[in-house]
Amino acid sequence: MTRRILIAGNWKMNLTLADSMALVEGLKKEAASVSQVDIAVCPPSVYLQPVAAALKGTNISVGAQNAYFEGNGAFTGEISMAMLCDIGCKYVILGHSERRNILGESSELVNLKTHAALAVGLTPIVCVGELLKEREANQTENVIRRQFDGSFSGVSAENMKKCVIAYEPVWAIGTGKVATPDQAEEVHQAIRKMIEKNYNKEVAEAVVIQYGGSVNDKNAQEILAKPNVDGALVGGASLKVEPFMGIIKSA
Ligand code: PEP
Repeated sequence: MTRRILIAGNWKMNLTLADSMALVEGLKKEAASVSQVDIAVCPPSVYLQPVAAALKGTNISVGAQNAYFEGNGAFTGEISMAMLCDIGCKYVILGHSERRNILGESSELVNLKTHAALAVGLTPIVCVGELLKEREANQTENVIRRQFDGSFSGVSAENMKKCVIAYEPVWAIGTGKVATPDQAEEVHQAIRKMIEKNYNKEVAEAVVIQYGGSVNDKNAQEILAKPNVDGALVGGASLKVEPFMGIIKSA
């Protein structure tokens, strides 16, 4: 098994430019000796370029929180995947639950974006996850399967291996209610089975599946110890050097 742990910080719509640069400088120093874990930060789009420039040549990659699927043209307010590549991004988060639930993003749209990201060589971090009421109605696996099938429709086996999936139960995002390690492992296993069913075992074993939802430096070790949890997508705890580095170190 060759999967590497990926710890990615989703800054969401937080921090000023000065805060962002201070955070990046702190992470750069603290993470310089980390070699066994892949690290990424995903700042707001207006800060992508200075953050990418500051992290050039380091072991910390940069990702965007969203982008559009069209290459260019009259799409006011949008940013293309090629533009992200142009400024040095490696990752793009797609289908985050806040985009699905607040901005009405469908799996069909996520699918177009996934294809567009792969076409320019960006690694999509595709988020899936159930609402609390869906978990309570025993619908978790059905919901994830619909999101998985919709988001990855038409993606080739070779490209699927390059994708990252973030399992983020919506009830655990920003709530302090982390899924138990067993709850996370159960869904991660189910996702790996979905990949195997749609592709094959080799592809299933290659895909990095992150957990996201109130991960911090206190609970990360237990969750990351699970065999099918290959990293974390971190919101709140990625906004300061100490907790984010704590998570990286526990990985
Ligand atoms: C996220 O937004 O992807 C996330 C997991 O947030 P938090 O860690 O704050 O729950």
